[in-house]
Amino acid sequence: MVDIPSSVKVGPFIYKILEDGAVEQRGIYAEVYHRTFEIKIDPTIADQKLSVSLWHELLHCLDDIQGMELDEKNVSRLANGIVMLLRDNPWLRELA
Ligand SMILES: [Zn+2]
Repeated sequence: MVDIPSSVKVGPFIYKILEDGAVEQRGIYAEVYHRTFEIKIDPTIADQKLSVSLWHELLHCLDDIQGMELDEKNVSRLANGIVMLLRDNPWLRELA
């Protein structure tokens, strides 16, 4: 897995980003715990899957604080779409 920061700020909260082999054993790539502010990622995740998986969990974080009531399918669709747009149009990253 490529090096990424050990935490991410989402609104008023800072989530720790942790590698956790138990995530892979459950057949998923990543998961978020809102009570402990942790995002756990499969340490064997392919680099090209990491971005989508992290965006997926970050969208769950945004949903938690903003009450968007996104379902799992919509979170996945949005994560794939955001990563697709950022990869296809790198200049978008600079506008934030
Ligand atoms: Zn999810």
